[in-house]
Amino acid sequence: MSENELIDDCLFCKIIRGEIGSYTVFENDDVKAFLDISQVNEGHVLMVPKKHIVNFFDYTAEDAQRFLQYIPEIANAIKKSNPRIQAMNITSNNGPVAGQVVMHSHIHFIPRWEGDGIKF
Ligand code: ADP
Repeated sequence: MSENELIDDCLFCKIIRGEIGSYTVFENDDVKAFLDISQVNEGHVLMVPKKHIVNFFDYTAEDAQRFLQYIPEIANAIKKSNPRIQAMNITSNNGPVAGQVVMHSHIHFIPRWEGDGIKF
């Protein structure tokens, strides 16, 4: 499969292009953040780089600087959106054996509060 075919077929590239709907919570030229379709806890958000990169193994140092700089801003925006949120799991699965299902790099923001019953 060519790089272009991979990008054409990629679920998160389709969301970035607006071909598949999503509930966007943050967007700029570099990244898009939207609600995960399967909420581990209320307010579960995914942040994806707009550039198609499979996972952190493929990031250059420049990619890391460019795309990861938004983590605190997005985490704080989610936290502000719901007074119940006391903490957050910010995670990323890199590679199928680690649980990566969608092969376009993404970071999970999972809001947490006392007694939410979520177990990792
Ligand atoms: P896992 O499913 O083990 O969390 P990933 O780390 O690859 O694997 O995460 C992919 C995430 O993408 C999942 O949390 C899944 O619910 C989410 N997802 C799949 N399809 C959509 C969609 N159309 N819109 C929003 N989120 C989606």
